[in-house]
Amino acid sequence: MKTKRIALIRGDITTLDVDAIVNAANNSLLGGGGVDGAIHRAAGPGLLAECRQLNGCNTGEAKITRGYNLPARFVIHTVGPVWHGGNSGEEHLLRSCYNGSLNLAHDYQLKTIAFPNISTGVYGYPKQQAGRVAVEAVSEWLDVHPDFKQVNFVAFDEENFTIYEELLG
Ligand code: ADP
Repeated sequence: MKTKRIALIRGDITTLDVDAIVNAANNSLLGGGGVDGAIHRAAGPGLLAECRQLNGCNTGEAKITRGYNLPARFVIHTVGPVWHGGNSGEEHLLRSCYNGSLNLAHDYQLKTIAFPNISTGVYGYPKQQAGRVAVEAVSEWLDVHPDFKQVNFVAFDEENFTIYEELLG
């Protein structure tokens, strides 16, 4: 039952027609590299204009905007922790990104969401460990939110795809 509402997708998160895609943003919410840059390029300037009104975001928290030119209706911007070796609260903060994003989606009555592997690019969180935290946090959240339809994990590269495949069985 647990994994029924969890799917794995190989590809680019900006192409997905879901209620919300999650952006692995930075504290400024004003754009950056990696998935953040790809989302802003695909969404167009309206996204940056709305982000400017948000006054940034704390690490481990999430904020929502509209999706502009994206197929997704909303973007949930969350700020993952920078990896400092694992003893600086990274796991707790990463878990909080997933929970906060899902809670926000639920508040907006959204039913489908897609996550990149948060923090595993420039922020340096080991992909396997981050994937495990992601799958655990999402599974636990879904267990207590039976009305939520689907969570998609998006693997942009082969390494992430293999990691999620193994974690999801
Ligand atoms: P962070 O700053 O949180 O580390 P990055 O954007 O550098 O964020 O990387 C996070 C993850 O997003 C990486 O695993 C990377 O492979 C993935 N990623 C990059 N571009 C895309 C994309 N267009 N769609 C989905 N995932 C992506």
